[in-house]
Amino acid sequence: MRFAALVDVYERLEGTTKRLEMTEQLRRLFQAVPIAQIGKVVYLTQGTLLPEFKGLEMGLAEKLVLRALAFTTGLTAGEVEGMWKRLGDMGTVAEEILSQKKQRTLFGAPLTVQKVYDNLVRIAQASGTGSQDEKIKLLADLLHDSTPKEARYILRIIVGKMRLGVADMTIIDALAAAFASKEERGHVERAYNVSSDLGTVAGVLARGGLEGLEEIHLQVGIPVRAMLCERLPGLEQVFEKLGKCALEYKYDGLRIQAHIGRGIITLFSRRLEDLTEQFPDILQELSLAFKGREAILEGEAVPIDVNTGALLPFQEVSHRRGRKYDIAKVSKETPVHLLLFDCLYLDGQELIERPYTERRDALERSIKTTEKVRLAETLIAEEPKDAEDFFEQAIDHGCEGLIAKALDSPYAAGARGWQWIKYKRDYKAEMADTVDLVIVGAFAGRGRRAGTYGALLMTSYDPEEDLFRSVCKLGSGFDDEALFSLPEKLKRYEQEGRHTRVDSRLEADQWFEPALVLEVLGAEITLSPTHTCAFEAIREGSGLAIRFPRFTGRWRGDKGPRDATTDDEILSMYRSQLKKVG
Ligand code: AMP
Repeated sequence: MRFAALVDVYERLEGTTKRLEMTEQLRRLFQAVPIAQIGKVVYLTQGTLLPEFKGLEMGLAEKLVLRALAFTTGLTAGEVEGMWKRLGDMGTVAEEILSQKKQRTLFGAPLTVQKVYDNLVRIAQASGTGSQDEKIKLLADLLHDSTPKEARYILRIIVGKMRLGVADMTIIDALAAAFASKEERGHVERAYNVSSDLGTVAGVLARGGLEGLEEIHLQVGIPVRAMLCERLPGLEQVFEKLGKCALEYKYDGLRIQAHIGRGIITLFSRRLEDLTEQFPDILQELSLAFKGREAILEGEAVPIDVNTGALLPFQEVSHRRGRKYDIAKVSKETPVHLLLFDCLYLDGQELIERPYTERRDALERSIKTTEKVRLAETLIAEEPKDAEDFFEQAIDHGCEGLIAKALDSPYAAGARGWQWIKYKRDYKAEMADTVDLVIVGAFAGRGRRAGTYGALLMTSYDPEEDLFRSVCKLGSGFDDEALFSLPEKLKRYEQEGRHTRVDSRLEADQWFEPALVLEVLGAEITLSPTHTCAFEAIREGSGLAIRFPRFTGRWRGDKGPRDATTDDEILSMYRSQLKKVG
């Protein structure tokens, strides 16, 4: 397949915000792609080369990209850099230079998807001495044969800013429509949820149809997309929804999915990053505690005070993510304990479709608890009064609250549903519960804040429409250090104009790709004509806003933008607030 044909579709996708239209464009694309290439096309559309958990990175710093562009086009690196500063997007820079400068020869071979993909993989894989030159050469080779428009997307993939605004769920819809039917999308989603790999799912589906998909099972070493929970403001509501259920402590740490193979343990985060290197202490302890041959277990890694044995706040463990420092020293100073709460697979038996009770039994069977690896505290309860003491105990132990789990529910990978419901301590006070919001824009700072941002435009997430809807302007709660590091931290997400998946009536001075999530505490939720969160759910012409929002100091690096607090959650917080007042 010609790369130009793919790029035409990308351009059309960029030109629309309508999900149905995107799905239709993608459906046509998937039906037109040769089967052998459909996986690659799916990855490229996601702006990547392989599923995220494989951890393949381009390894081409922006400086090198500038050099490669200069090298192919005969401009100086300084000139290219000047354009980049002006245009703010490496893709547009490449497109512009190529359309001005390039003398396209009649002999330039048209690019194919295969060639682009192969070169990009080789760029990512080149390592060691001489690899930087090699990467530049491979990129130059692609640019030599590419049209300006093709260059735009090649560069965007390289710098990790594809920004087509296509959610995984839209790709799933399109795959279902292309190779099965819309009604059968659930099968496609299931395969994705257990394999976390849309490229492979696409290939199997295109080749073998729905029957083929049934062959995709969970596998030790390949992360399963996490089951998520809903929230309710009171125990009464929890029991109304679930009846007799299991209650578990809600630990405040980092979610870990442990894949135990024969002799190898791999740890994944909730976002499917490989965390194995960061937790040598857990690896060791888990191999002592695990009694079976192989398993996929889930739990929460919680930092512990070495002196008192008490659970510590989440921040103490969050800084282990992605940092390169003396892990051995850190594991000694702030050890973590792993509190296990689920078992998805054990010794040849797939448990993901089995009810909670059976999975918990398997977990108990397979673990001999040690000091550092234990099972989440649990209680089977029939009504709120059975739960009250347990809730107080959980708080007393430093937990955030409880998670109630339906006894008969399977592990719903990748889904947020009412089978798991969190109930947190602070609900009782007005909006004392925090929300996790996504940064999509910023307003320039004045006075003491000149040179940085004065406020950030924050959004909640609407999964129905795949939109980020504005809910407040956030300016307080930042200390000086956090405040002045904002422009630097946000720089890589900058973009011209509002992102296609952002719904806002406010015009920010600077827009960003929705990427970073931070935790916010507000005084209350109010109706607002300015903000678009849960728009018109309560009153015509009004959305919901968070009044007096403050940053709690906690960056939710463990959450992706689509894991943020949803419009519906904010709506139900608003309603429960009203009930309290009334
Ligand atoms: P939240 O991040 O507030 O949406 O809460 C859900 C998170 O709570 C999960 O992703 C887990 O990381 C964490 N968690 C803590 N304890 C448990 C538990 N017993 N069962 C399930 N999740 C838990």
